[in-house]
Amino acid sequence: MAQRPDPKCPVRPGDTCSLCYPGATGPQDCGLVWLVRQDPELSAELARLRSETAS
Ligand code: SF4
Repeated sequence: MAQRPDPKCPVRPGDTCSLCYPGATGPQDCGLVWLVRQDPELSAELARLRSETAS
């Protein structure tokens, strides 16, 4: 049986999605991810976190 790769949490760089947000079935319909993407300051902060995690 093929296993799906673990989806990565877009707002917790380095972590896989643990379905921590109520109602979410994954990053694709996570309300927290949506909120962060709507907010320019949070998006910028997330980009900074990502670049730190990637290094
Ligand atoms: S539910 Fe959303 S915030 Fe929680 S781990 Fe998954 S993607 Fe990240």
